[in-house]
Amino acid sequence: MPELPEVETIIRGLRVIKGAKINALQVLDPRLDLPANEINGRTIEAVKRRGKYILFLLSDGGSFIVHLRMSGRLAFTRSAGEEKHTRFILHLDCGKVYFINPRRLGTAEYAKNGFPYQLGVEPFSDQFTVEYLTKITGDSHAPIKSILMDQKRIAGLGNIYSAEALWRAKIDPRRKAKTLTQAEIHALHAAIVQVLTEAIERMGTTLGNTVSDYRNADGDYGRFQGSLTVYGRTGRPCRRCNEPIERIIQAGRSTFFCCGCQK
Ligand SMILES: [Zn+2]
Repeated sequence: MPELPEVETIIRGLRVIKGAKINALQVLDPRLDLPANEINGRTIEAVKRRGKYILFLLSDGGSFIVHLRMSGRLAFTRSAGEEKHTRFILHLDCGKVYFINPRRLGTAEYAKNGFPYQLGVEPFSDQFTVEYLTKITGDSHAPIKSILMDQKRIAGLGNIYSAEALWRAKIDPRRKAKTLTQAEIHALHAAIVQVLTEAIERMGTTLGNTVSDYRNADGDYGRFQGSLTVYGRTGRPCRRCNEPIERIIQAGRSTFFCCGCQK
């Protein structure tokens, strides 16, 4: 599932369409309820990320908002190429943006007045401080991994980068959030920022090579998968202590961690 680094990489690849005019929105999936007449003829003033959402800010003050959910991508092309599983095409005066969404779980919508969702703080914002992390963990009996993945607390972290940050901070993902020491919260705060930064530098994580796997706006794979320490590494030796990586199920999702060095 695309998380903050993958979505950030996609929007950076879409910067070339800033200032482009939308000639037509062509909707190919009838399940997408999009008001093409509100969008056609608008100019794209910016492409931004909020959490895992991609926002096209339009010249009428409205936003065209896309969320990839479990799989899929947005691809920009100047050529006429067609792609399988395309759910909409934004025909621009400088090329086309394809929304390729094989499992049809992704969403797209038009919002007239700003961003309509309540999300938590952005990990790269000034609000994401050690104090903030202390506050959101301090009174919670929930496992720390669930707190990290809660989009209403921190926007953009998902299953992969939560697990990777917890490994870097040497914290067991099953720990109740309120049991974390101040030193552990410091380490976790640094680990979150660090792992997201490195993943963006390597254009995100691509786990496989099927049509559902993440690619950037130019169709290229990410390169962070080779740097994963726990995610998807069940049974392989921990890069820090050599114990085999374990996989458990937490809140219906896989959690990968090392029993040897995550306490
Ligand atoms: Zn270990």
